[in-house]
Amino acid sequence: MLFAARRALLGRASLSINCRGRPGHFLSTLAILEQRDGQLNAGSLSAFTAAKKLGGTVHGFIAGSSIAAAAAQAAKVEGVEQIVTVENDAYEKGLPESYAPLLVENIKKGNYTHVVGGHTAFGKNVLPRVAALLDSQQISDITGIQDEKTFVRPIYAGNAIATVESSDAVKVITIRGTAFAPATAEAGSASIVPGADPKAGSTTEWLSEDLAKSDRPDLATASKVVSGGRGLKSKEEFDKVMLPLADALGAAVGASRAAVDSGYADNSLQVGQTGKVVAPQLYMAVGISGAIQHLAGMKDSKVIAAINKDADAPIFQVADVGLVGDLFEKVPELTEKVKSS
Ligand SMILES: Cc1cc2nc3c(=O)[nH]c(=O)nc-3n(C[C@H](O)[C@H](O)[C@H](O)COP(=O)(O)OP(=O)(O)OC[C@H]3O[C@@H](n4cnc5c(N)ncnc54)[C@H](O)[C@@H]3O)c2cc1C
Repeated sequence: MLFAARRALLGRASLSINCRGRPGHFLSTLAILEQRDGQLNAGSLSAFTAAKKLGGTVHGFIAGSSIAAAAAQAAKVEGVEQIVTVENDAYEKGLPESYAPLLVENIKKGNYTHVVGGHTAFGKNVLPRVAALLDSQQISDITGIQDEKTFVRPIYAGNAIATVESSDAVKVITIRGTAFAPATAEAGSASIVPGADPKAGSTTEWLSEDLAKSDRPDLATASKVVSGGRGLKSKEEFDKVMLPLADALGAAVGASRAAVDSGYADNSLQVGQTGKVVAPQLYMAVGISGAIQHLAGMKDSKVIAAINKDADAPIFQVADVGLVGDLFEKVPELTEKVKSS
C-alpha cells in the first residue's frame, strides 16, 4: 500500500534561559576551521555563515601541518577579513590538550567577542575546554542566532527549543551544520596572517586512527541518504539490500543505532541523537521504526520516505511518503525501477 503520510509536527516546547550578564565590547568573531591532511573540511565553512550572521568582523582560524592551501581556500570566502594560521605538526590531529590552549592564546590576542565552531567530533572535543579556560559557558549546537547574545538550540533530542541569552565576555558557540549552509569560497580576499603558537605541551599522544573509507557521498553533507534499521536482520542483508539502492540513487548510507549496535553497519553511519544529524533533500528510512532518538537526527530532512511492514510504525508520522510492505521485496524492486528510469 502506497500512501502519503501526514508529516506530524512534533510537539515542541519553547523556553528562555538567561545566563549571567556583563557588557561586551566591539563584536568580532573567530570561526574555527577544520582540515585533514591539508584539505579544508568544506562543512566547517558553516562557521563563517554563522559568524557573518552575528555581524562585526569575521576572522578564520586554521592549524596543522600543511595548511597553506586550506588557508588560501578559506580566504576566498567573501566578508572574511583575515585567516589566522598556525603551522605546526603538533596541531595536525586536533588533540584538545594542545589545541585548546592554542585557541585561547589566539582568542585573547585577537580580542574576539565570539568563537564559532562546528558541533562536530572536533568541535565537541576542543571547544568545551576553550570555554572552560576562558571562564565562559559554552553555547552548544545552536540552530539560530537572534542577536549577538541570544541563540536558539534544540534540547531533549529536539523536543524542546531553548532560547538562551549569554552575557559572557567571550561567547564560545558550536553550530549545528544542517542549520547553517557552508559559506562558498569564491571572490573573497582575506589576508592570511600567522597566529600565536604557545607550543603548549600535551599529556596525550596521537598513535593511530582507523577510518571507514567509502566512495559514496559523505553522510553529513549528502543530498540523499538511505538508512537501514534492525528490519534488515543481518549485515549481509544490509549490504545486499541497502548498498545497491544507495548506488542507484547516488545516496549516502546511514543506519539506526539498533542496526549499528547489531553490527550491520559501521558506527560512523549512525543517524540520530547520539549519531550524526542530517538534513538531506531526501531521507529514506528502511526497516526503521522511528524512535524519537532516531528522529532527532533526520526529521529536518526536506522529504522523508519510509518503507516498513508495520503500518503503525511511528516513522510514518514524520514521513512525507510511506510504503507499507516487506523491505526485502520492495527495496530491490525500487532499486531496479530507479536504475531503469
Ligand atoms: C540515550 C539514547 C540514545 C539513542 N540514540 C540513537 C541514535 O542516535 N540513533 C538511533 O537510531 N537510535 C538511537 N537510540 C535507540 C532508539 O531508541 C531505538 O532503539 C532505535 O532507533 C531503533 O532502531 P530501529 O528502528 O532500527 O529498530 P526497531 O525499533 O527494532 O525497528 C525495526 C523496524 O523494522 C521494521 N521491519 C522489520 N522487518 C521488516 C521487513 N521485513 N520489512 C519492512 N520493515 C520491517 C519493523 O516493523 C520495525 O518498525 C537511542 C536510545 C537511547 C536510549
